[in-house]
Amino acid sequence: MPATDTPATLRVVHTVCSHDCPDSCGVLVTVNEQGRAIKVAGDPAHPVTQGFLCGKVAKYLDRVYAPSRLLYPLKRKPNVAKGPLERGREHEAFERVSWDEAQDAIAAKLKAIAEEFGPESILPYSYAGTIGVLGYGSMDRRFFHRLGASQLDRTICSEAGGVAWNLVYGKKLGTPAEDFRLAKLIVAWGANIHGNNVHLWPMVEQARRNGGRLIVIDPYRTRTAALADWHIAIRPGTDGALALGMMHVILNEGLEDRAYIAEMTHGFERLAERAREYTPERVAAWTGMTAAEVEQLAREYATTRPAVIRLNYGVQRAENGGTAVRAIAMLPALTGAWKHRGGGGSLSTSGAFQWDRKALDRPDLALKSPLGRLARTVNMCSLGEALEDRDQGSGGRDQKSPLGDGPPVKALFVYNSNPGAVAPNQNAVKTGMARADLFTVVHEQFFTDTTDYADYVLPATTFLEHTDVQGAYGHYFVQLSQQAIAPPGEARPNVWLFGELARRMGFEDACFGDSEMDLVAQALGIGPDGHSTRPEMEHITLDDLKRDGHIPLAFHREPETKPFQPYLSGPLPTPSGKIEFYSETLAAQGPDAGLDPLPAFVPNVESRFGELAKRFPLEFLSRKADNYMNSTFANLDGHRRMEAKTNQALEIHPADASARGIAEGDLVRIWNDRGTLLLKAMLNASLPPGVVAGKLDWAKLSAGGANVNALTSERLTDLGAGATFYSALVEVEKAGTRDLGNRIREQGLAS
Ligand code: SF4
Repeated sequence: MPATDTPATLRVVHTVCSHDCPDSCGVLVTVNEQGRAIKVAGDPAHPVTQGFLCGKVAKYLDRVYAPSRLLYPLKRKPNVAKGPLERGREHEAFERVSWDEAQDAIAAKLKAIAEEFGPESILPYSYAGTIGVLGYGSMDRRFFHRLGASQLDRTICSEAGGVAWNLVYGKKLGTPAEDFRLAKLIVAWGANIHGNNVHLWPMVEQARRNGGRLIVIDPYRTRTAALADWHIAIRPGTDGALALGMMHVILNEGLEDRAYIAEMTHGFERLAERAREYTPERVAAWTGMTAAEVEQLAREYATTRPAVIRLNYGVQRAENGGTAVRAIAMLPALTGAWKHRGGGGSLSTSGAFQWDRKALDRPDLALKSPLGRLARTVNMCSLGEALEDRDQGSGGRDQKSPLGDGPPVKALFVYNSNPGAVAPNQNAVKTGMARADLFTVVHEQFFTDTTDYADYVLPATTFLEHTDVQGAYGHYFVQLSQQAIAPPGEARPNVWLFGELARRMGFEDACFGDSEMDLVAQALGIGPDGHSTRPEMEHITLDDLKRDGHIPLAFHREPETKPFQPYLSGPLPTPSGKIEFYSETLAAQGPDAGLDPLPAFVPNVESRFGELAKRFPLEFLSRKADNYMNSTFANLDGHRRMEAKTNQALEIHPADASARGIAEGDLVRIWNDRGTLLLKAMLNASLPPGVVAGKLDWAKLSAGGANVNALTSERLTDLGAGATFYSALVEVEKAGTRDLGNRIREQGLAS
């Protein structure tokens, strides 16, 4: 990409930030004559990126050129047990090997395991370490289908919300990011816009300059909440009750849009009957709000136009999170907010990008595997249980085992993820990964909590070092990410890795020889005339993408003259063809499925309303850091400094602290039946009483080698079988001197 003010000796390459963030920023990388990247900047021509990057990626070259980058394949030394390794000394557990040696050995071991235990005993484990279309899933899926390996149910982050939204609307679409500037009311519901969707923030500011208001609903006072006109610090897991209470008030006061409801929705009468049960007083008792606040919120929401809800995925990481998202998603349909440009809502825009997944994944290859069929599916949220295989030897497995009646897991292949840090029930995950009989391969950029358990560690590329194509879940632009620099050392991308492994496994299918650009063309369904054949992408050619970097989807090409407003006309891809207040999909599953076709509030088992609260009375929020991306970036000193204030801290309400004799700065022990943490008390009066918060960090950088996921549960969400990171009960006490001594010894924290 030419840039007029770039000296002739420099190149500027259009890439796309592939970290798991709704913004999918266009990133311009300046490369010098030596092929070294010397600058990263947000693409000023991208209407959402608007020329700036978040604090995490603005200093991305610190990551790309970090002295601690993994540069060569590594093999565990004989007689070195799997388990936590001291930061900076991980190399001592491994020896350098060539790619040839590593790949041949891995292929031979996978073959042997498949023959002895069946190919389903091999479990791939990956998620959104990259959200580039190819990096997230393409050659890897082909490889594992052809092998007959277990499929992974990738539910850890967004599945409950996605299923919920689709039950209501049939497809994940939302108000365009650029149109938020037109809103007069923005409700950020479980959405830390300033922290992790920062390119929406200029639109929020513009809306406020035009007289709009920002309301934030979030148990934690995020930096977005701190900047809001009104922060409602709702109790965790009570969002569904609040949405139903808002419906009650809206209907009671006749604030619904009857014309929109009649034309576009299904099941209104039944929903109205259900909402009658949710009086402001009942809802107040659950949420911790006052009844007057519930009424005020409902009135302001229903009478302000345009009103938009930015709903993010935090809400759905609770036992009842799917239903909560369903209820919230119904609000703009009840008030007809979709009719007003700038109004409506957004959970995700990802439903707009109709990549040719079948061409990329090639599920048909499973027919050529030794199984001759698609393999079983293992839920990634149940990794600990799957690896521990708890019912082995006790008369067979429980019916609910994530392994079904298939073989135990004998090989784990991790890429794009760090389950040692991010998976729930960390102690179970670690126990499982420490098994001497488990063969583990990890493809990574750095040593992590997971590589400590690997037999082979393979060096991976960053988004500057490979080619990919990308959509977004926060905007409507297709982008090409072009390789800007050569990978450092011997780092290699996913596509190369799995293509090579396939060759060594003897898979002769031609598709394993596809290049990254072949796969980009397949993702876009490029036809004989050079244009995409995919819905809303027919105007896109590869040459256009190479030249422009980003191209809007067809419906978003003329945003000023033909603005895109979703859900204004039908039919929608739901069973009724309409927005479903009453879910025909859930109704069809029958009462035995235990899924109510109408939204209802059911308190979480792990909440103050459950029996378990007698033993563990505090609700624990395992929150995300603004300056990390889940566990990514937490190893970099610059990023850690930005998070210094809450590193290794347990935030606790002064009343809860005082009741336990805890003062600011005390070392505290936090525990439940799954694990224990030692953190430093940090009093925070903005938390709802009864709620404590700790930040996700790397386990190996935390006291006792455990992070917040030592406390989180493998229980699954009501819809989508997702993770319930925000439904966890704990108790807290001031740590004893023995705890203190242990901590000082383990972490060198004497100062
Ligand atoms: S993490 Fe998000 S905001 Fe930051 S550069 Fe990447 S896409 Fe943009």
